[in-house]
Amino acid sequence: MARVDLTGADIIDAHCHPFRSQDLLDRDPRSFETRCMFLGTALISSNHANLEAAAFAEELTETTMFGLALRRWIAGYLGCEPTKEAVVAARDAALRADPPGYVRGLLGSEQVVAVVADEGYPQPSIPRADFEAALGGVPVHRVGRIEPWIVEAREEGSFDAAVQRFEAAMHAAGNDPRLIAYKTIIAYRTGLDITDPSSADAAAAFDRWRGDGWRETREHAKPVRDFLLRRAFALAKEHDRVFHVHVGAGDPDVNLMHASPKDAFAFFVEQHDIPILMIHSGWPWVAEATYVGTVLPNVYMDLSELVPWGWGQIDWSLEMILGAVPAAKVMHGCDESSEPEMFPVSARLVRQALERVLGRFIERDFLSVGDAESIGRGVLADNVRRLHGI
Ligand SMILES: [Zn+2]
Repeated sequence: MARVDLTGADIIDAHCHPFRSQDLLDRDPRSFETRCMFLGTALISSNHANLEAAAFAEELTETTMFGLALRRWIAGYLGCEPTKEAVVAARDAALRADPPGYVRGLLGSEQVVAVVADEGYPQPSIPRADFEAALGGVPVHRVGRIEPWIVEAREEGSFDAAVQRFEAAMHAAGNDPRLIAYKTIIAYRTGLDITDPSSADAAAAFDRWRGDGWRETREHAKPVRDFLLRRAFALAKEHDRVFHVHVGAGDPDVNLMHASPKDAFAFFVEQHDIPILMIHSGWPWVAEATYVGTVLPNVYMDLSELVPWGWGQIDWSLEMILGAVPAAKVMHGCDESSEPEMFPVSARLVRQALERVLGRFIERDFLSVGDAESIGRGVLADNVRRLHGI
């Protein structure tokens, strides 16, 4: 196969979540692998966790492709046997000896030179400086999520006061030069099929929503959330920022009926004058997202969630995405929201998959070796830099 060499290419992770060193030390060292799995991550982040399921999830890691590869790759990095016992022991010793040093080493092993952190999870938000310290000084760029600001704003007595407080939070974030994007997870709340309620309709819905105990219904919550999302897009344009939109599945709290690229399409067509990054590339609806990225110039794709949890789907997904979407709109991310091993393992997965997939494009005479390497470096780091002005 034609050789594409991306060894040594910088990687910037376009989507992850902050942690503190102490968080890593506080968790049960024996189950770090399971916390990296989609099952483990989803159990922690959703409201559906229960202990019985956690024990079963632990058992299931032993037959999860990502879990087995993670163990072998981390064993190679730590220089120990690829057994659960050996990896847990070596990893725990390395982590406890120097937490930020261990994390910096993991990121450095795959040239992860910066990360983009979605501060909306976990809550309360972990400040940028704390995460940067936990990464041993690797630079962190902020993404401000609007949903926690909505929770704060709705504590105000009236709809008008809530809107005012929400807008103040948008402006405060926009005035921080380290904030490179806003983000919404409205797919987790009332769905991506954004409507256009009048201010009066949204105000009436606000009162009904409060009366309903803030339950996430399409009847009461949706008009308010859609109204505020439209305000957020207007203010993001004013502050000249990218908007990150969660598009695709997630943990069991997601509104799976209204979370696909198809649901978001009409709104994206309307919002043609702001760069939008589809976080998760619509996974599992990657083909739908590929169409959206192909037809709408301002809509970009982040690979996280597909990476690493779609593990065996990376090659054919990259072949589909990069075979159609302008490659400058595609960027690597790993959705780390638990353990730092997510960074190097995902980075290695994507670097190697890009080398294979782009090599096949060279064989078909679609690309020169130079084209392929430039596309690969773009996905790994250059595209996220260019989009966000990093
Ligand atoms: Zn995420």
